[in-house]
Order: sequence, then C-alpha cells, then structure tokens
Amino acid sequence: MERGKFDLAVIGSGPGGYVAAIKAAQEGLKVCLIEKGLLGGTCLNVGCIPTKTLLANAQVFQKILHAAEYGITTGPVTFDYEKMKNRKDGVIERMRKGLEGLIQSNGIVVLRGEAEFLSPTELKVKGQDNLILNAQKTIIASGSEPLDIPAFPCDHKRVFNSTSILELTSLPKTLAVIGGGYIGCEFASLFSDLGVKVVVLEALPSIVMLQGKSVSESLTRAFAKKGIDVQTQVMVEGIDQTADGLSVRLKDKAALACDMALVSVGRKIISSGLGLEKAGVLVNEKGVIGVNEKMETNVPGIYAIGDVTGKYMLAHVASHQGIIAAANAAGQSVKMHYNAVPAVIFTNPEIATVGMTLEQAQEAGYQAGVGKFPFQALGKSVAAIETEGFAQIIVDRKTGQILGAQVVGHEASTLIAEMGLAIANELTLECVADTIHAHPTVAEAWLEAALLANDTPIHLPPKVKK
Ligand SMILES: Cc1cc2nc3c(=O)[nH]c(=O)nc-3n(C[C@H](O)[C@H](O)[C@H](O)COP(=O)(O)OP(=O)(O)OC[C@H]3O[C@@H](n4cnc5c(N)ncnc54)[C@H](O)[C@@H]3O)c2cc1C
Repeated sequence: MERGKFDLAVIGSGPGGYVAAIKAAQEGLKVCLIEKGLLGGTCLNVGCIPTKTLLANAQVFQKILHAAEYGITTGPVTFDYEKMKNRKDGVIERMRKGLEGLIQSNGIVVLRGEAEFLSPTELKVKGQDNLILNAQKTIIASGSEPLDIPAFPCDHKRVFNSTSILELTSLPKTLAVIGGGYIGCEFASLFSDLGVKVVVLEALPSIVMLQGKSVSESLTRAFAKKGIDVQTQVMVEGIDQTADGLSVRLKDKAALACDMALVSVGRKIISSGLGLEKAGVLVNEKGVIGVNEKMETNVPGIYAIGDVTGKYMLAHVASHQGIIAAANAAGQSVKMHYNAVPAVIFTNPEIATVGMTLEQAQEAGYQAGVGKFPFQALGKSVAAIETEGFAQIIVDRKTGQILGAQVVGHEASTLIAEMGLAIANELTLECVADTIHAHPTVAEAWLEAALLANDTPIHLPPKVKK
C-alpha cells in the first residue's frame, strides 16, 4: 500500500470538511480531504441544494397560479416534474464541478475512499484510492444520514427517506409525511405547492417545535390554509402496502390511506466504521463525538465538526466549526460561539430564526419583551402581495440588548442576516432604530419591530391611543 504524509487530514467533504480543508490550506498546512461518496456531502448532493432547487420550482409555479392577482392573464398552467428533477440534478452537478475546482485551486489533495483511523496519527484510506497516511492532525467531518425506523423501513418505491424522495420523477396524488421537523415541513410545503394532497404526522404537540410557539403556530395556520393536514400527537406504528398504495397505521386512531410516505424522523450520526477506538476518540451512546469550544475531541490534535458533533445539524454551523477547527489545527487559539446561529426553514411561507425565542429568554431569567411587526402593515409586502407573517425581535427590557429574532413570511431567509449581525455583536434596539433602512423594503420590518419593542411605533397605532 502507498504511504502519504500530511499536516492535516480532513475526513468528509460536506460543508464542514471542505471549508475546513480550504481554511487549513490558506493557513499553509499540507492538507488531504478524504471522501467516500460525492464531493459536497449531504448539503450539496441530497440536502440543502437539491431541496432548495425543487422549492424554487414550486415557488415559480405558485406565482404563476396567482398571476391574475397581479393583473396578468395566463393560459392553463402545467408542469413536468421530471424536468424539475432534472434541473435539480443539473444544479448539483454544476456546483460540484465548481467545488472540485475550488478544492484543487487551494492545493488540497483529494483522496477518494473510506477513511479509518489506525492510530491517532495514522489513517487507512480504502476505495478508489488505497493508502495509509500519516497526519499530524485530523478533522472528522463525517456527517449524518437519514434515520431508518425498523417498524416502517423505507422500500424507496413507496416509502421514502429524504434522500430517495429526491429521485422521484413523477408525483403521487397523496403523501404522508412522518415527522414535522424542518425537513419534513419543507417537503410537505414543496409537494403541497405542486398539487399533492399532504398530511403531516407529528408525535410532538406541534410541528417545528424547536423554533418556538409563535413560529410553530404561524406555520400550522399557513399549512392549514394551503390544505396541508397537520396532525400532531399521533404515533405512527407501521406502514402496510395495499393494492393501490399504503396504509399508515396510527396508535389509537384509524389508519390513513395514501399513495406514498416520506419518513423524516431525524438523522443518524456517522461515527461508526471510522476506527475511533483505535485513535482513542470518545463518542456518546448516539455516536456523537464530544468536542470542546475549540472543536477538539478528547484526543489532542483530533477535531470534529458538523453533524457528527450533534449540535445544530446545519450546513453553515458545520462550515463555521470547520473554520474554527482548521485555525486551531494551524496553531491559533479560537473558540466557537453559538449565541447567534441563524436557522431557516424554506417552507412557503419561509421561517427564519436566530438567537433566543421569547420562552427561552424568559427561562434564562431575562426581563424579556417582544416587538412584533406584521407584514400586512408594510408597504413593500402589500405591493408584492406577500402580506402573510411577521418579523419579531426578542429584547432584554433592562438593557435593550437584542436576544433573538424570528420571521415568518417572504424573504425571511434573507431578512434574518441583519438580526444575526445584531445579536453576534450584542447590539441594542437603539442601534436598529438609529439605522436608516431603505424604503420600501421588507427590511423595514426590523426598524418597525425595534420601535414596537420600545413602545414607540411609527407605522402601527400606539398601544394606548392619545
Ligand atoms: C433534505 C435536507 C435538507 C437540508 N437543508 C438544509 C438547509 O437548507 N440549510 C442547512 O443549513 N442545512 C440543511 N440540511 C442539513 C445539512 O445538509 C447538514 O447539516 C450538513 O450537510 C452537515 O455537514 P457535514 O459537513 O457535517 O456533513 P455531511 O454534509 O453529511 O458530509 C459528510 C461527508 O463525509 C463523508 N464520509 C463519512 N464517513 C466517511 C469516511 N469514513 N471516509 C470518508 N468520507 C466519509 C460522507 O460521504 C459525506 O460526504 C439539510 C439536510 C437534509 C437531509
């Protein structure tokens, strides 16, 4: 077997691994990036990018369906889902080629194969490339995969997971989405907007529970308006094949008939098979690799980033952790902070959050207040016929510091960046209120929400009329 020598080996080329590899190469380290599957990991191949490409198709379709509201006359509107799927594949291919070039231009050696530790500084790569390499330091970015439930396994013909459903070339008439987390809700929104009758089955009391009460209530209302049947506190016990589709068995409830089902009940950490025991790296019972704030594991010189650390399971968090780990591997001393992590759910309407929810701020002991501005009162939203939803700021009433923000509605994914910057830099309501926001833009919602939180609204009546 060939042998290689590197300053740093990175296992996994998802948004965690490839960003870490580039950062480390910039810092002057000799870096190899080991990948057993496709470059770009979950995010590029079966996660963020394919779903957002399909969602963009659905968004255009919905706009055309509502064209008459803008005074535009159209004929009958149809679509070809196979073409939509092919466009998605083309986008991935194009971005993967770009990524390959980027990695190459940074002088990073890409090794194709499965990596396994032989010792803390030795790795075996088995696959297209076969070698044993010596790496002074290693960053583990092996990610996660869909969780399969033994009671209702995916056959990938009628019962899908989030990966196999991306390969559909035609749509079912009815779809049961099992799991009302953000991935399940994005697919529910996508297929519903393309005319599929969707039911969401969630075991918890509400969908997207992690995003807080006001967001989850708002999305539930919006889904109901679209005709998505959201059923909460229901336990799926099994899925049976029938002559013409599926029957989803529910605990203490009548079974539900549908053509297809999507199982999106969580993600499984990929940490077995890496030979972690030979390196001495510890994992918990779920396979999560423990790290400190420098992203270093219990073994000095071995770092872990991204989904495998079980923290946020978001691409941009993986990338940021990658930058921190790479900088530390290159001899710096930097720490990871999680006080301003934005999270976006690309449903229609979009949802975006950063920092604390009202409930979290209250639990943390803050004298928390809210400034909530509805898009109905915003000129740009009315002009665009996008009046659904709101932007709200959570504030510490004592100091005026912004603790969190949530948006439901159009452009939520873009809007949240301003609040991310505000929270990361510990800005106050006054900072937002003193910043001139262009008119007419949806970003004015922040200015208005800040004024509302201060009880000095301009474009809404005061609480107590004078
Ligand atoms: C349907 C869906 C939609 C999503 N949408 C979003 C979104 O809109 N925004 C967002 O922020 N996040 C989204 N995510 C989550 C996001 O994709 C992940 O958080 C992100 O990809 C994690 O990055 P990572 O680098 O930790 O791991 P991954 O992207 O999972 O990459 C890990 C890589 O490591 C490789 N690997 C594993 N073991 C080995 C080994 N032993 N040797 C060599 N290679 C190995 C794997 O093949 C894989 O390519 C979505 C996920 C899904 C499933």
